[in-house]
Amino acid sequence: MATHAHHGSCHCQAVKYEATFDLSAGTNRCNCSICTKARAWFAFVRGDDFKLLSGEDLLSSYQWVPPGREHSVLTYRFCSKCGVRLFGTGDIPQMGGRFYALHIPTLDDADREALVNAPINYFDNAHDQPDRAPEDVRLL
Ligand SMILES: [Zn+2]
Repeated sequence: MATHAHHGSCHCQAVKYEATFDLSAGTNRCNCSICTKARAWFAFVRGDDFKLLSGEDLLSSYQWVPPGREHSVLTYRFCSKCGVRLFGTGDIPQMGGRFYALHIPTLDDADREALVNAPINYFDNAHDQPDRAPEDVRLL
């Protein structure tokens, strides 16, 4: 376990955040429709361990309702100036309440070797099987 405070930002630097988490716990990729479009690569961060440092006024939001669900699960936040998505956030009791799915490419000071060595967890949400990896992960 190596929990560190990481810092990240969007491309234009308007939005900045600090997030404390253990990169060695792994990063995540998913094949659902929105993760595919956005080429999502994310780490889960608990709500208490995430702090927005600047840019709240420039953050836009997007929500969608997955097939077979009644409500949107996550709110995706992205910079309205440069368009870079920084995170998705949700509040799910089974996940310990408020959490952030932090977009890994927005990290500015992650240790490169730690990132390379972090295991990748794959989720087959395209087939409603989040507990297993898709058969083919080559393009995720
Ligand atoms: Zn920006």
